[in-house]
Amino acid sequence: MTEPTNDQLRPMPDDWQRALAVVAHPDDLEYGCAAAVAAWTDGGREVAYVLATRGEAGIDTLDPDRCGPLREREQRASAAVVGVSEVEFLDHRDGVVEYGTALRRDIALAIRRHRPELVITLNHRDTWGGVAWNTPDHVAVGRATLDAAGDAGNRWIFPEPGLDPWSGVRWVAVAGSGNPTHAVDATPGLERAVLSLLEHRSYIEALTDEEPEEYARSLLTGFAAGAGERFGGRPAVAFELFSR
Ligand SMILES: [Zn+2]
Repeated sequence: MTEPTNDQLRPMPDDWQRALAVVAHPDDLEYGCAAAVAAWTDGGREVAYVLATRGEAGIDTLDPDRCGPLREREQRASAAVVGVSEVEFLDHRDGVVEYGTALRRDIALAIRRHRPELVITLNHRDTWGGVAWNTPDHVAVGRATLDAAGDAGNRWIFPEPGLDPWSGVRWVAVAGSGNPTHAVDATPGLERAVLSLLEHRSYIEALTDEEPEEYARSLLTGFAAGAGERFGGRPAVAFELFSR
């Protein structure tokens, strides 16, 4: 048990019904966030995933044409483990996702379709904290998601016939941030988060010589324990929360 300190993370708001997670790649949500998603869907909340790419440039030994469909399948299986059945792909190109109006538009329209109160994304900052450099796709998609939460509510930005504006996003929660402010107890969802990450088996097997389940469990347990140091010692998923 860690001694409580005055920089403790606050509990995430829970007075909402629908969340939309928008990230760059298959596996982005499974490296930490899925434990929170499992707890939310257990509680009867709806969560959908939108991925900017199919992660087709993610496996060195596999041609993108074969890799994309494989990673899409693994992502859908991975989402199902934590109670998520809606998974959409925006078909931006893996590795070279560009921040700009095309990306903001695609994400804003997804927000209008799903009408979430909570939007989740992955770290949009240059680093993971300290000097661990982030990747350009994460930065682009994270920033565009923070922006699109506002764009979605303005009928004159990215007008789309048949799709009403949605100004109901109350928060954007950024996972993997070096500056977290809030957290969710990871305990109830942690085991399913391990299984969820494990669904990205092709990716993990190409990434490491470790036994995949041991790799997934030790990594996620470590992340949760790290965040838990600022959450009363409970394993946690941390977020930087932007209220709107
Ligand atoms: Zn990624």
